[in-house]
Amino acid sequence: MEGIFDYLAKYDYENVFLCQDRAVGLKAVIVIHDTTLGPATGGCRMWTYDSDWEAIEDALRLARGMTYKYAAAGVNLGGGKAVVIGDPKRRDREALFRTLGRFIDRLGGKYYTGEDVGTTLEDMEYIRMETEHVVTLPTYLGGAGPISPMTAFGVIQAMRACCNEVYGSDELRGKRVAVQGLGAVGYELAKQLAELEVRVWGTDIDGEKGERVRGEFGVTSVDPKGIYGLECEIFAPCALGGIINDETIPQLKCKIVCGSANNQLLEERHGDLLAQRGILYGPDYIVNAGGTIYDTDRLGVGGVSHERGRAKVARIYQTMEKIIEISKGDGIPTHKAADRMAEERIRAISEVKKYADDLRP
Ligand code: NAD
Repeated sequence: MEGIFDYLAKYDYENVFLCQDRAVGLKAVIVIHDTTLGPATGGCRMWTYDSDWEAIEDALRLARGMTYKYAAAGVNLGGGKAVVIGDPKRRDREALFRTLGRFIDRLGGKYYTGEDVGTTLEDMEYIRMETEHVVTLPTYLGGAGPISPMTAFGVIQAMRACCNEVYGSDELRGKRVAVQGLGAVGYELAKQLAELEVRVWGTDIDGEKGERVRGEFGVTSVDPKGIYGLECEIFAPCALGGIINDETIPQLKCKIVCGSANNQLLEERHGDLLAQRGILYGPDYIVNAGGTIYDTDRLGVGGVSHERGRAKVARIYQTMEKIIEISKGDGIPTHKAADRMAEERIRAISEVKKYADDLRP
């Protein structure tokens, strides 16, 4: 990594906090990227990194991603992330996460954490014992509960907007959708698509998951390698990142790529390649924002409302429409249009915020 302050300046980060407690074995990084729109929010990842620098870099990259996600979704939250360095399977977790909760509490509401890779809802409950500044909580603790159904609902809104652009109608009935990954989101997506009378093909490296959706929703199960080349209108990546790459793009027969997986483009240029092949790409962080939009909706408005949360998730349709408009108007691929839209919103709202109540010298 280049000099840390050069890196922070390049992407305009606000703070990096290193949290250490020898007695409980805590080593964590909290990054606040940008709080222009609201408190920095983003999950807490737990992972064994090869070096402390690698952990810091991961937290920096992920925090910045959250800024863009919330900005583009029209949510009034900024971007942040926490990374705990350690084995995600570690058993003694209460003191660890409660200590982290205390560090988060010290930040006075500048950062809200949540569940992420390597952490669980139980860990969030431990953090909640020490601070209010945590999202992704079960309903009995005042949270919104499981968010995957809302992530899937958001994916469907983006699919509809994409279909409207490509086929002149946002009707999904009768369309063919290939879903890669039938885990928390993929399962829900298959279910909701089947309810809309969409013809669904699905794949998972875990064969039992394919069997389950076949039995429950009549999804046609295919081999993991065969999913890319299916004749279909929409390919929905809902497994791992990096699956849009030099090897997979030539296989695609779809007109739209729209799914929940994070970091679908192996490299930025693969977004350009999709556009060159006439495939409309729903930028991952726009398409998969439904769960977090729903989950964080309660912040600042005093509680969960299913109707209000769902209505906000439904706006992913309009967000996708705007991105398509920017993409066409500015002659850039959709993944770049999404970034542009996010940056423009942050710039515009920073103007609004200059009229602060508090004008102390
Ligand atoms: P999950 O772990 O429940 O499901 C992922 C599934 O993909 C698993 O069943 C796994 O066996 C399968 N898989 C892995 N590699 C595969 C391959 N090569 N081919 C086919 N299947 C494969 O995860 P999830 O919560 O459903 O999330 C899916 C993706 O969506 C992830 O990239 C995640 O970061 C992203 N995402 C999820 C949410 C959410 O609400 N859960 C929100 C935003 C983004």
